[in-house]
Amino acid sequence: MMQQYLSIKERYPDALLFYRMGDFYEMFFEDAQLASGVLEITLTSRNKHDESPVPMCGVPYRAAQAYISRLIESGYKVAICDQVEDPKAAKGLVKREVVRVVTPGMIVEDELLDAKTNNFILALSRHQHITGLASLDISTGAFRLTETADRNAIIDEIMRVAPREMLLPESLNADAAFTPFIKENLISAITVMEDRLFEFAGSRQRLLKQFDTLSLEGFGCESMKAGVGAAGALIHYVSETQCQKLEHLSAVQTYFLGQFLVVDDQSCRNLELSGNIRTGSRQGTLLGILDQTVTAMGGRLMAHWLRYPQLDPAPIQVRFDAVADAVGQMQTRRDLRESLKPVRDLERLGSKISMGHGNARDLTALKRSIQALTDVFSVLSSLSAAPYTYDRDTTKLHALADLIHRAIREDAPPVISEGGMIREGYDNGLDELIRISKDGKGWLAELEAKERNTTGINSLKVRYNKVFGYYIEVSRTHSESVPDHYIRKQTLVNAERYITDELKHFESRVLNAADQRNDLEMNIFVSIRDRVKAHHADIREVARFIARVDCLTTFAEVAQNNGYCRPKINTEGILEIREGRHPVVEKLITGERFVPNSIVMDNLKNQVLIITGPNMAGKSTVLRQVALVTIMAQMGSFVPAEKANIAITDRIFTRVGALDNLSAGQSTFMVEMQETANIVNNATEKSLVILDEIGRGTSTYDGLSIAWAVAEHLHDLNGTGTRTLFATHYHELTELENQLDRVKNYNIAVKEWNDEIIFLRKLVEGGTNRSYGIQVARLAGIPEPVIRRSKVILAQIEAGMHPRAAENNEAGTGSKKRKGHIQLGLFSPMERKLLESLQMLDLSRMTPIDALNLLNELQIKAQSDVN
Ligand code: ADP
Ligand code: MG
Repeated sequence: MMQQYLSIKERYPDALLFYRMGDFYEMFFEDAQLASGVLEITLTSRNKHDESPVPMCGVPYRAAQAYISRLIESGYKVAICDQVEDPKAAKGLVKREVVRVVTPGMIVEDELLDAKTNNFILALSRHQHITGLASLDISTGAFRLTETADRNAIIDEIMRVAPREMLLPESLNADAAFTPFIKENLISAITVMEDRLFEFAGSRQRLLKQFDTLSLEGFGCESMKAGVGAAGALIHYVSETQCQKLEHLSAVQTYFLGQFLVVDDQSCRNLELSGNIRTGSRQGTLLGILDQTVTAMGGRLMAHWLRYPQLDPAPIQVRFDAVADAVGQMQTRRDLRESLKPVRDLERLGSKISMGHGNARDLTALKRSIQALTDVFSVLSSLSAAPYTYDRDTTKLHALADLIHRAIREDAPPVISEGGMIREGYDNGLDELIRISKDGKGWLAELEAKERNTTGINSLKVRYNKVFGYYIEVSRTHSESVPDHYIRKQTLVNAERYITDELKHFESRVLNAADQRNDLEMNIFVSIRDRVKAHHADIREVARFIARVDCLTTFAEVAQNNGYCRPKINTEGILEIREGRHPVVEKLITGERFVPNSIVMDNLKNQVLIITGPNMAGKSTVLRQVALVTIMAQMGSFVPAEKANIAITDRIFTRVGALDNLSAGQSTFMVEMQETANIVNNATEKSLVILDEIGRGTSTYDGLSIAWAVAEHLHDLNGTGTRTLFATHYHELTELENQLDRVKNYNIAVKEWNDEIIFLRKLVEGGTNRSYGIQVARLAGIPEPVIRRSKVILAQIEAGMHPRAAENNEAGTGSKKRKGHIQLGLFSPMERKLLESLQMLDLSRMTPIDALNLLNELQIKAQSDVN
C-alpha cells in the first residue's frame, strides 16, 4: 500500500495527497506533518514499532469538505485520491487514483465561493515582446484572453482580474522585472509550469480539441500567439487537475485592452469603486450603491461592468435605452425582482453539473430556477427594449425541468451513493427493489407471529442490528422451549439471540435489495445529470440573459430611487455635469444636505481646473464625483446629476496626496512620485486625471514645484493636453490661469461669520488665497487657547515676521527682523542663490572662456538642485 501511495504522491509533489482508506482520507510523511498543523488534528504514525515509523494523520471522508476548504484558504492544493474499484470486488490492493486536484483557482464547491464574485485563475505567457493573458473561472465557464506589448497594461489587467491563482511559465517567473511586483501586490497562489506548455502551437491544439473546432478564427484569436499560449496553458492545467475534459468550456472570448476604460488598481482604491479604504468591504463604495441585483450572476456581471466600462458609444446607448425603458415602470420592476428571487445561480449550477459534481439538490435547484423563468419572461413582456427579449427557445429547458421533477425527490440527501433520491414510479426496476425492502417489514412481522405461535413464546422478537444482522431474541426464561433448528449466536444477561436458515436467506435478499437499490439510484441519477449536461449551453445562455436583465433593471431601480438622470455621451472631450452629486457621499452624510455642484470641462478653455479651498471644504468629493459619474455613464448606468454630458474617457488616473491616503499606509513621497510618473507617461487627451493635493509628502518648495510642473506638463501633454482636475492647497497654483491657455481656477466657497467659517460646498469660479486652517482646526475641536495662539502667529507670519523674532522684538533685544523674514515666493533658496550670482556678474570684464566656465558652474549647481 505504501508503494501505491508513494507512486501516486510522486506525481503530485506540490499538493497534499488525500489518500482514501475506508472511511478516512489519510495523509503521510511531510503532508501529514503540514496538514496536522494547519488543520489542528492529531499527528500519529503508522508502523509505530518500526525503526522509522511513518507520520500520518487523517480526516473522515464525510467531513473532508470542511478540511479541504481550510487547506485551500491557507493557499495549499489538495489532490483527492479515491478508490476507483469496489473494495469487495478487488483482488489484492484496491486500485486508487487521483480524481481531482483542488487548488485556489480550481474550485467548484459553493462553500468556497462568494456568490457575487468570480473565482479566476490567470495565466501569462510571452511571445517575443508581447505578453498574453488568459483568465478562467471554471465555476462559471467564463474564459477570456487578451494580449499586449505594454507591460504596465498587463500589470493593470492582472490587478483588474484579481485572480486567486496564477500560472506562470518558468522563464517569466524568473523575470526579476516582473514577478516580484506580482508577488507583492497580489494575494494569489502562483503555479509555475514548463515554458513549453505555454507555446503557441501546442496551446492552439489544446484549444481546438477543447472547443472541437478546426481553427480559432471564430474566437478572433487565431493570430494572437501570446494570448493563445496562455489560454492553452490553462486548458492543460484544467485537465491535470480536474482529470476530465470540461465540456462547459466551449468558447473563449477575445478582448482588447483598448476596448474598455482603464482605471488602474490604485485609482480603484482611491475612488473606492468596490472596496472601501478602511476595511476593503463593499460598504460605502460605488459597487455597494449600484449592486442591488437579485441574482448571483447579476451581481457578478455588475462587478464586471464596473471594472470594464465601455469606450464605444453604441453599446452604452443600448444599455441606456434599456434602463430608460425600465425607469418609469415601478410595478414591473417590483414584479420582476420578485420573479427573479427563486432563480438560483444558474451559471454555477450548470457548470457544476456539467463537471459531474452536482448532487440531487443541485438538480432540484436547477429545476426550480427553470420553472421560475416562466414568470420572469411573462413580466419582461411589458418591457420593450432589446435586451429584455430572449430569442432562444426554452422548450428544451422546460423539458429538462419536467424530467428532473418526475425523477428526483425534493427531499433527497446531499450524497448520491446512499439512495433516497429517485421518486417512486419513475423506474420499474427501482420500484421492484423498493417493494422488496418494504415487503421485508411485513414479512418480518409475519415471521415473528409464526415463530411465537409454533414455539409458544409470546415475548419472542425478530430484530436487526449491524453486527449480527437479523436475529430472533428469546428471554432467558424461555430458552428451554427453543426449537432445535435455532442456531445460538449470542448470550446476553437476560436473553439469547438466534438465527435460522430462513432468516439468513431473507436477510441476504433484503440487504441485496438495499445495495442494489442504492446502486440503481445512483445510475439513474447520473444518467439524468448527463442529460442535463448535454444542455449546458442552453443553461449558460439563459443565465447570461438573466444576469444582463438583472443588471439593467437594477440600474433603473437605483436611478429611480436616487434621482439619477440619463446622461448624454460624446467623443469630443466635453464633460458637463449640472448639479452633480457624489453617489456614495450623498448617502453617507448625516446632519447636512448634500450640495450638488456643476462642472464643465473641455479640451479648449477648461481643460485643467485648479480647485482651491480650505480643508474639509469638499474638494476631494467634487473630484471623485466627476470620476465616478464618468465611470457610471460608461457602464451604461444613469448618473447622480440633473443633466450630464459625459466625454468618453479612455483612462482615469487619480493621485491622492500622501496625507489624504494615510489610512492605506502609503504615505511615502516615493510612492506619490511613482504614481505621478505613471500619469505623466500614460495619459492621453482622452484621459481624465484627478490630482488631489499632490506634493504634500515633501517640503513646501519641492511639493509646490512638482505640483506646478505636473500641471504644466498635463496641460501641454502631446501638444493637446489632458483633462485634469487639480485640488490643491498651494494657492500659488492659481497663478497658472494667467500663464496657460486652458487652465481655469475654481474654489469651493466658504462664508466667514463671526470669526467662524461655514462650508457652503459650492464650486465657484476663481481662486482663493486663504486657507482658513485655524477655523477648520477649531471645528475639529482644537482647544481655544491653542487657536488664539495660532492666530497671533499667523498674523505675525503674514506681516513678514518669524514668530520668535517678533517676540524677541517685543522683548526689545534688537532687530532680527531681516533674518526672521519668511520667504514664501516661488523661488527655492538655491534658485535664489543662482539669481544672486547672475545679478552680481560684471559681463564687461569677462573673457568668453570665463563666461563658459561660469555657465558650466551655474548649470552644475542648478542640476544638483533639481536632483
Ligand atoms: P476636502 O478635500 O476639501 O478636504 P472633502 O471632499 O474631503 O474635503 O469633504 C469633507 C467632508 O465634507 C466630506 O466627508 C463630506 O461629509 C462633506 N461634503 C463634501 N462635499 C459635500 C457636499 N457637496 N455637500 C455636503 N457635504 C459635503
Ligand atoms: Mg481632500
